[in-house]
Order: sequence, then C-alpha cells, then structure tokens
Amino acid sequence: ASDANSSRRYGGLKDQDRIFTNLYGRHDWGLKGAQARGDWYKTKEILLKGDDWIIGEVKASGLRGRGGAGFPSGLKWSFMGKSSPGRPRYLVVNADEGEPGTCKDREIMRHDPHKLVEGCLVAGRAMNANAAYIYVRGEFYNEASNLQAAIDQAYKAGLIGKNACGSGYEFDVYVHRGAGAYICGEETALIESIEGKQGKPRLKPPFPANIGLFGCPTTVANVETIAVAPTICRRGGAWFAGFGRERNSGTKLFCISGHVNRPCTVEEEMSIPLKELIERHCGGVRGGWDNLLAVIPGGASTPLLPKPVCDDVLMDFDGLRDAQSGLGTAAVIVMDKSTDIVAAINRLSYFFRHESCGQCTPCREGTGWLYNMMDRFVRGQGRPQEIDQIWELTKQIEGHTICALGDAAAWPVQGLIRHFRPELERRMTQYHQADSDQPQAVLG
Ligand code: NAD
Ligand code: SF4
Repeated sequence: ASDANSSRRYGGLKDQDRIFTNLYGRHDWGLKGAQARGDWYKTKEILLKGDDWIIGEVKASGLRGRGGAGFPSGLKWSFMGKSSPGRPRYLVVNADEGEPGTCKDREIMRHDPHKLVEGCLVAGRAMNANAAYIYVRGEFYNEASNLQAAIDQAYKAGLIGKNACGSGYEFDVYVHRGAGAYICGEETALIESIEGKQGKPRLKPPFPANIGLFGCPTTVANVETIAVAPTICRRGGAWFAGFGRERNSGTKLFCISGHVNRPCTVEEEMSIPLKELIERHCGGVRGGWDNLLAVIPGGASTPLLPKPVCDDVLMDFDGLRDAQSGLGTAAVIVMDKSTDIVAAINRLSYFFRHESCGQCTPCREGTGWLYNMMDRFVRGQGRPQEIDQIWELTKQIEGHTICALGDAAAWPVQGLIRHFRPELERRMTQYHQADSDQPQAVLG
C-alpha cells in the first residue's frame, strides 16, 4: 500500500451512518421495530419516482455487488430494461451464504429482515420485476423463519402484494429454502435449484438477465446489496458514495473470525485498513498484532495475505486486488502464529473437492488432485519440484471451468505458494531428512 494509504486514519463509522442498526442492540426485528428504526419510511414515494430514478440513485451511490464479484449494481439492475414486455421478470435474491467465514447475510435475515423485504420491493421496482424469490441457505432455518414472518407482516400491512404501499405496483416475495449444497450459491445453479433441478451451473452467456428463472429475464443479487437499496434511495446515492474511495464506495458488512479476541460482524466504511478493522472492532489479534501470521481477507476463495501485507492493506476491491487477493464476501479469517498454514489451506482444498458439482473436468479432477497433493504437503511428503507442479495444476484449473468454483479452489493454493513456499520446502526437507536418518533395510 502507498504511504498515503498507510497514513490514512479512520474515525470509524458513526452510528448515524450505519444502515444495519439492529445488528448490535438486537431490538425487535418485527415490523414495528423496523419502522421505528426508519424502514418502510416513504417507500411509496420511492416507488412512484420510478425505475429510472431508483437506478440513477444506485448508480450515483457507486454500489457494487456485495456477494463477492463486485459487479456495479446500477448497471446490473438496468440490464433487464424495459425489454420483453408481457413476459414475467424476476428478482432472485441470493441468500445461499455458504462461503467459509461468511456470516453477514445471516445477520441481516436474523436481526433486520425487513431491510431485505423492503429492498426486494425497491430493487424489484427498479427492474420492473413481478416477484422476488429469496433463496435461503438450507442450514439457515431460523433466518428463513424470521424472513417469512417479516414477509407475512409486510403482506398484512399492504406493503407488498397487490398495490404495494398504495403505489399501484404489484409485487410478490417468496422464500425458497436450499438443501445444503455450496454450489447452489452460484447464480445459475441457484436458478436450476429453484426450478426443481440439480444445482449445476449453466454456461454463461446467456446471462440470467436474458434467460434466467423459468426462462424469463432475471437479476440475481446478494442479500446485502438488496438490503441497502432503500436507505440509498432515502439518503441519496451521493451520501453512500461519500464513504470509502472512488470505485470502492459505501459502507460494508465485514465478518471477522479466527484468532481475534472478539469475532464479530460489523458495518464499517469501505476502504478501512485491515489492521484498524481488527483492532477497533475485534479487540485485536490474539496475543497482539505481532503474533499475526496471515489473513484470508474475503472468504475461502480469496488468497491469503501474510502479515507484512496485512500491516497496511485497505479493505476494498482495489486495495485487495493490488495485494493479489480480493474483497470477496469481506469475510476476514485471521490466523495467528499457532496456525499450521499448510493444513489450513489443505482444509479449503478438501472443501472445494467436496463441493465441486463434477460437471467439468478441470474442476472435478483438478480439485481432487489439489487435495491429494496438498494433503501430502501437510506432512512434508513430496519433492520441491512438486510445488511447481501443483502451481501448474492451479493454472490448468483457473479460467477453464464453467463456474467460479474452479478458480476458488485454485486461488488459496496459489496464495500459499506465493507467500509460504519456504515453509513448504522446509517441511519437505525435514521429512526427507528424517526418512534418510532411519536405518535402511539391507537388500540381498
Ligand atoms: P461474475 O463476475 O461472473 O458475475 C457477477 C454478476 O454480474 C452476475 O450476476 C452476472 O450475471 C453479472 N454479469 C457479469 N457480466 C455480465 C454481462 N456481460 N451481462 C449481464 N450480466 C453480467 O461472478 P459470480 O460467479 O456471480 O460470483 C463469483 C463470486 O462469488 C466470487 O468472487 C466469490 O467471492 C463469491 N462467492 C460468494 C459466496 C457467498 O457465500 N456469498 C459463495 C461463493 C462465492
Ligand atoms: Fe461444477 Fe466445478 Fe464446473 Fe463449477 S467449475 S460447474 S462446480 S465442476
């Protein structure tokens, strides 16, 4: 990071600038509590301003998708446009939050479900959608229950359904529960799953905006992205764009887990330095900052960063891209010096092998090979030249698969080699040294 970045100090996000105010006090998440916190305020006026106005505000806010890919939201919401009149069109909300380390959408559905329901209505109006399907991760039973209760309350109060909020706009919201497959978080696998088929990703293009749910124009968006839309419309795109920095604007939920004193999910300003995020909200790294070994900054698919990089990296799309990683889902996994870093990354290789849908060869076979090799590397088995082989293997997977799961399996291993190659070599040397110290059997 540049000197300018490292010298930048944050006052911390003020309470009045938090969007998800109910994650902390955990007051009544029902309709009354939500309205007392400002939800459903002047929603009718927002709807009556129309699709172009809402999309204009979202574009002005600079909001980028919060599910991991960071695609500009205003642009994405405009794709369905006003084309295909007479055909149904859908908003699909991806609440299949499965990226290891990620638990932000869970918090929204648990403690602030009305933000999501109102967000569906506002975003749905922007896209001229007829209905929203919210696909909730199967394991999130309580969250799906809260969400359904909030939807029922909204219907009863006339906020959604026929003549939503008295605006003349008709909009339905449905909850669909998944059944525990990580791959169903991939947007086209998710669509297949809602349609009652196996959750196997489709080739893109065509993108869902053209051919999506039930063959109709569809926009798939993350829970957090949708849930911030009403506040952006109420407070203005320029207000949201005032946080963070250019191309990386807004506030953001960060989930911090691992070797910190107080793991938490917290809303902060985008572009906050990683060190500041951990020290301000998590009571620091266990044993102090100098005890830090590495951080996975954005969920399992983002390559780890060693401590020297963590010292001044900024938590946003560009800062983490420049550090050869990514913001992903902003799930920060902190590992102190007690961590067996090779075993930790191997555990991710196991995860991706297990979750591969098996549809394309580089992923199906490659994730198995990655895991088998990594599992040996944990014990120091293998020769140093195999490190180059596994690197080459990751390159054969990356960019050669139908969906991003292949890349997600390759990147953590690349991060390990990039920053911890000497550790891999040390284990191999030690292993072979121990092997050669053993008395050898005499043949003949
Ligand atoms: P992507 O870049 O392929 O697509 C992003 C979005 O933009 C999609 O909705 C896509 O349809 C749309 N899009 C892109 N180009 C388009 C075009 N030309 N026309 C129309 N629409 C277009 O990324 P992705 O595969 O959707 O997401 C990958 C990310 O998901 C990873 O970076 C990872 O961080 C994240 N992820 C998140 C979780 C979670 O639990 N939240 C789990 C796994 C992975
Ligand atoms: Fe399935 Fe993996 Fe191919 Fe994605 S990359 S479609 S998970 S086999």
